[in-house]
Amino acid sequence: MRPQKIIEAKRDGDELTREQIDSFIEGVCDNSWADYQTAALLMAMFTRGLSQAEQDALTYAMLHSGAILDLGGIAGPKVDKHSTGGVGDKTSLVIAPIVAACGGTVPMISGRGLGHTGGTLDKLESIPGYNVNLSCEEFREVLETCGYAMSGQTSDIAPADKKLYALRDATATVPYLPLIVASIMSKKLAEGLDALVLDVKSGSGAFMKREGDARDLAAAMVRTGDAFGVKTQAVISNMAQPLGAFIGNALEVYECVRILQGDIQPPWRDTAELSFELAARMLVLSGLSGDMDDARSRVERAVSSGDALAKFSKNCELQGGDPTVCDKPERVFEESLVRVPIKAPAAGYISAVDALAIGDGVVALGGGRLKAEDDVDHAVGFRCDIKVGDRVEAGDLLGEIYCRTDDQGATMLETFQTAYAITHEPVVASNLIIDVI
Ligand code: URA
Repeated sequence: MRPQKIIEAKRDGDELTREQIDSFIEGVCDNSWADYQTAALLMAMFTRGLSQAEQDALTYAMLHSGAILDLGGIAGPKVDKHSTGGVGDKTSLVIAPIVAACGGTVPMISGRGLGHTGGTLDKLESIPGYNVNLSCEEFREVLETCGYAMSGQTSDIAPADKKLYALRDATATVPYLPLIVASIMSKKLAEGLDALVLDVKSGSGAFMKREGDARDLAAAMVRTGDAFGVKTQAVISNMAQPLGAFIGNALEVYECVRILQGDIQPPWRDTAELSFELAARMLVLSGLSGDMDDARSRVERAVSSGDALAKFSKNCELQGGDPTVCDKPERVFEESLVRVPIKAPAAGYISAVDALAIGDGVVALGGGRLKAEDDVDHAVGFRCDIKVGDRVEAGDLLGEIYCRTDDQGATMLETFQTAYAITHEPVVASNLIIDVI
């Protein structure tokens, strides 16, 4: 089928057939479609829209553009969590060992940070020696031995998405729901799962800023997961302020280990709360627990007994990482960093801690990337001690910048300071969990 004919059909607003969509994805993968033709069709899809049938056909074709993990023979239901990304969103590192400790098998294929949102692979790489580039055989072996494995996307998993996502990024065609659903779900469905819990973020630090858009995305992904035979549920969670205390790769690993040690301090209580909620939903959805009450108590027991931390330690050992971070999480900190305090300019109540401003601030420190090929400084970041609703007096510590030099700290001071808003009236913080779909 000639690419021009398919582009022309969508340009004129026709519904594409399954055969046309298959031919498009085949052409993307075997390079018979030039990048300019692919980009033209993506833009036509963006402006003319895709029907439900087209969206499903695209997801199917992208999923089958590569391998689907065969996890047959590995005990336990296969269950994963996917987050649409946020600032300080580190729950994967807490959830995977908890669910593994409760009998689940978690084949977690994750991504790197881009823009203000962090990525699980970058966080894991701040553990000395940790290898996120596992072959399929290594991935399976780690999964069988300790119940969860963490790896980057190999070239065999949904290869069409890799090319399409790069072209969408370059042609302003990312923010279109059917393309997002096909992109995320083609990768997740390739994991060979029984159940999937999605954490769809809403707020300034999220991909979907408006709650209505987050709800639409959640509903579309749940429908797609179910249609492809994977039990799927979505939690809509608040990303108006950063999640937890720490933002920055190594700093976030520290917070996760403290939680797995059962040491839950007020600034990172929300990380623990969201992680426990998502883990419990994974247990229920995969049939490991009969209801949420049982699931919550199993999750809490996995932490208080030390079983989840033991899983984390075993996983580190199997993936080449230094497991001593489990006893001494402060080992991931670089002592040479300069810490610059951010203080409250006036007394009052915190009405906003702008997640986007803080996420962008950490990228500017070198802790994130603007382009996929940028390097990341794993050590730098920000600690956010005070959250929305807290009462402060003038001069109280709001947080601290962890940076390389005094000059860098001075340059970034205003960015972090202005992320906080203070009012005279008491403020009630919004719910962390907005809804479940
Ligand atoms: N994340 C993805 O993997 N794909 C999208 O299209 C958007 C966010």
